[in-house]
Amino acid sequence: MLLQLYNSLTRSKEAFQPLTAGQVGLYTCGPTVYNYAHIGNLRTYLFEDVLKRTLTYNGYAVKHVMNITDVGHLTGDRDMGRDKLEEGARREGKTAWEIAAYYTAAFKQDIARLNILEPTIWCRATDSIPEQIDLIRRLEAQGYTYRTSDGIYFDTAQFPAYTKLSHQKIEALQEGARVEINPEKRNATDFALWKFSPPGVQRQMEWDAPWGVGFPGWHIECSAMSMKYLGAQLDIHCGGTDHIDVHHTNEIAQSEAATGKPFFNYWMHGAFLIISGGKKMAKSEGNFLTLENAFVNRGIDPLAYRYAAFQTHYRKPMEYSVEAMEAARNGIQHLRHQVRTLKTAAGGDAGRCHEGFQEKFLTEINDDLNMPRAMAVVQELLKSHLAEADRLATLFDFDQVLGLDLAQADRTQRLPAEIEQMVADRHKARQDRDFARSDELRDALQAQGYVVQDTPEGMKVFKP
Ligand code: AMP
Ligand code: ZN
Repeated sequence: MLLQLYNSLTRSKEAFQPLTAGQVGLYTCGPTVYNYAHIGNLRTYLFEDVLKRTLTYNGYAVKHVMNITDVGHLTGDRDMGRDKLEEGARREGKTAWEIAAYYTAAFKQDIARLNILEPTIWCRATDSIPEQIDLIRRLEAQGYTYRTSDGIYFDTAQFPAYTKLSHQKIEALQEGARVEINPEKRNATDFALWKFSPPGVQRQMEWDAPWGVGFPGWHIECSAMSMKYLGAQLDIHCGGTDHIDVHHTNEIAQSEAATGKPFFNYWMHGAFLIISGGKKMAKSEGNFLTLENAFVNRGIDPLAYRYAAFQTHYRKPMEYSVEAMEAARNGIQHLRHQVRTLKTAAGGDAGRCHEGFQEKFLTEINDDLNMPRAMAVVQELLKSHLAEADRLATLFDFDQVLGLDLAQADRTQRLPAEIEQMVADRHKARQDRDFARSDELRDALQAQGYVVQDTPEGMKVFKP
């Protein structure tokens, strides 16, 4: 079936066509490991995970590369400011290498909790310094670079297609770039390929290069590592929408200037997570929530966030609120409960995936990953009159894309004897229309950490 994806390059939905039949090279810009990922960052990784699972579901063999930015990303995105890793090291009294190792591990834990599949290849910027130097040398040999007192820069005026991804007028990009003034730059949009270590300062992370001791600019790592690990298989490149104007624009300019070939055919971007009131969630805004403090510490299963993310299309801003997350928690709990009920009714019958529903589901995910509509198909399936075993088999088939770990939801939860007794008493109270007693028992169950739901199929009591 046709897979349509929105390509930021052409600003339209396009039928996906990989460079090599049956295979996809996917590169997703990874985290800068100087702090925890916030749930906004994680929204972008969730979108990318759905993309990858959708490609796999469509039968493609996906080679997925994700980088870990452990050097060169400066506090001011535009070649000024301090290195975020060295900044993190100062803040925590550790080495930059320790900071990188610690936050890389934290990131991997976060994505595991969200059931985000690991990339085929993880790559750290600091492990590919020679490849980055090589790429800069190629650009230098072709006359795209110039030297200033603090580094080697890419001359954007020499790459006429510079605005092809952002679709902005060059003046608008230059205006944005003027936030940080570097009088030695020829054009406001020029960017650093290599930065020199400041005179008289020994950085924790620095390397010898033909131009002097220093470190790579942030953008060059993604160009060098995507070519290193994907070779010619440059199909899809992703990130958050904030990457369009600077990071991805610069990646395209330096890569296409160096090779003379198109650098990735499809560019896909996830919209931001915003907090109520419309502000974007960002570390610099001081309003950032981690998976740990927004979910784990509140006793909410992190997969509720995955479920919540499916309620909004990835190209639309998603609003965070405690209420929305609680609604998502209830949603996923109810879904798991439905799985358990179906499992009991199916009684060991493996069932068969229903082709009609499968086609409906595929139609939605293949329409630029329309997860809100795919979730509506899930609801339709659950309400259908298919045999329980077939409903379950179809749902498990969808879960290859949903990644809600529904196969685990059928582990029957056995309640402790005294809780079973309270549940039985509450049943009786409700039959007797003794609502005061019923409410009292509900409160007592909740006080012990149980969720109590009265649904058309009866009372449900479970631990979240
Ligand atoms: P960083 O670690 O800052 O390089 O960002 C990691 C990823 O998160 C990038 O793809 C960003 O575009 C993305 N991102 C940053 N802030 C948000 C946000 N509030 N909502 C969604 N994605 C974001
Ligand atoms: Zn990148």
